[in-house]
Amino acid sequence: MPTQPLRTQVGILGAGPAGLLLAQLLHRAGIDSIVVDQRSREDIEETVKAGIVESPAAEVLATTVSDRVYRDGAKHDGIAFHFDGQAHRFDFQDLVGRSVYLYPQHEVLKDLIAARIDAGVAPLFEHTATSVEDADSDRPRIVGTTADGSGFEIEADVVVGADGSGSIARIPVVGSQQGGFFREYPFAWYGVLVEAPPSSEELIYSRSEEGFVLISSRNREVQRMYFQCDPATDPASVSDDEIWAKLQAGVTTDELKRGPIFRKDVLRFRSFVAHRLRHGRVFLMGDAAHTVPPTGAKGMNLAISDVLWLNRALREFFGSGSETLLESYETDALDRIWKAQHFSYWMTTMLHIAPDASDFDRRRGLGELRLVTGSRAAQEYLAEAYTGWDYGVDGWRD
Ligand SMILES: Cc1cc2nc3c(=O)[nH]c(=O)nc-3n(C[C@H](O)[C@H](O)[C@H](O)COP(=O)(O)OP(=O)(O)OC[C@H]3O[C@@H](n4cnc5c(N)ncnc54)[C@H](O)[C@@H]3O)c2cc1C
Repeated sequence: MPTQPLRTQVGILGAGPAGLLLAQLLHRAGIDSIVVDQRSREDIEETVKAGIVESPAAEVLATTVSDRVYRDGAKHDGIAFHFDGQAHRFDFQDLVGRSVYLYPQHEVLKDLIAARIDAGVAPLFEHTATSVEDADSDRPRIVGTTADGSGFEIEADVVVGADGSGSIARIPVVGSQQGGFFREYPFAWYGVLVEAPPSSEELIYSRSEEGFVLISSRNREVQRMYFQCDPATDPASVSDDEIWAKLQAGVTTDELKRGPIFRKDVLRFRSFVAHRLRHGRVFLMGDAAHTVPPTGAKGMNLAISDVLWLNRALREFFGSGSETLLESYETDALDRIWKAQHFSYWMTTMLHIAPDASDFDRRRGLGELRLVTGSRAAQEYLAEAYTGWDYGVDGWRD
């Protein structure tokens, strides 16, 4: 153990989008923070995860971190649903006057890490937290070990758990890593990264007799595609030919552009909301507080909402000493969290076919897709949620 713990105002566990963005917003308000992460900078900047940035999230990133999301991101004015041999486009601009941006999460992370380094407070990489202590005191601590095996300790006025879906910061907040409301799904996504040009300029969400397919993209050279699979599937057990057959079965109109498949993985997912988002001086946000199935592209965008609420509360706390907004953080954040949970659940169940689906379930599912694509009101509902509800939080622009 170090003789002297590092001391800061806000100790942030996790250098994902949530932790790094909070550090950036606090820095703009003159509030000190230290961010720790178990991974190396290189690993964080190379891990391919989220791709779709909602319209309000793009504005937050462009205003407070970097406008690369607008300069280098691809603006998508819609998505397509393919089912029953037909393609239906949701024209977001026409429906709600908004777009989303295809700007991969690792690019967001590069921008956020560069901003931390520019501010002279680089995250502490390769620092693995083993516990968060003293939540009930006014000096909570993050305790852990560095890559060389030595101990570290960060003592702060407030500790924020932004350590993702396997969060250890949940333990002092809800009593265990699992304490929360959740729902499991009987299917997973088989995902591939392919070296090929885009097959479609916009995302294609498809539901066929075989189940769900998503045709997505990372950039002009690398494409990300998924099909529904059994959660127990071994990624190595599926041949390239089988992969292309499954993907092609979901696309009703176009021949997919093929190329070498250089990564195969199986992504299991569930819906989860922690029982509490705060205990004493320890707060949860982002995937540590909640996870959603990726179908609605909500995870990172939702994390940004938590960041904005917590940023507002911490600015008030360090500015005036008032805990009023810290006390309302959980209620404030949960409003959007449950809306996003519903939207992600709805998109997931509408577009997948459960392994035990009856003929009734399959036909009802097609009826739902026809209803949604055949009604302007339903299309607006989807477009408004997909492109992002306004955050409705102040205190982040300055
Ligand atoms: C395939 C896929 C597609 C997705 N698509 C989208 C999308 O299009 N749009 C969208 O908005 N979201 C999407 N998401 C979700 C999005 O990636 C997550 O919601 C987002 O990463 C959450 O950010 P976070 O900062 O809360 O957590 P994370 O990104 O998980 O970051 C947590 C960090 O904490 C660190 N950490 C964890 N434990 C410890 C520890 N004990 N000690 C030190 N460090 C620790 C981790 O190393 C990690 O860097 C997708 C996710 C997946 C998997």
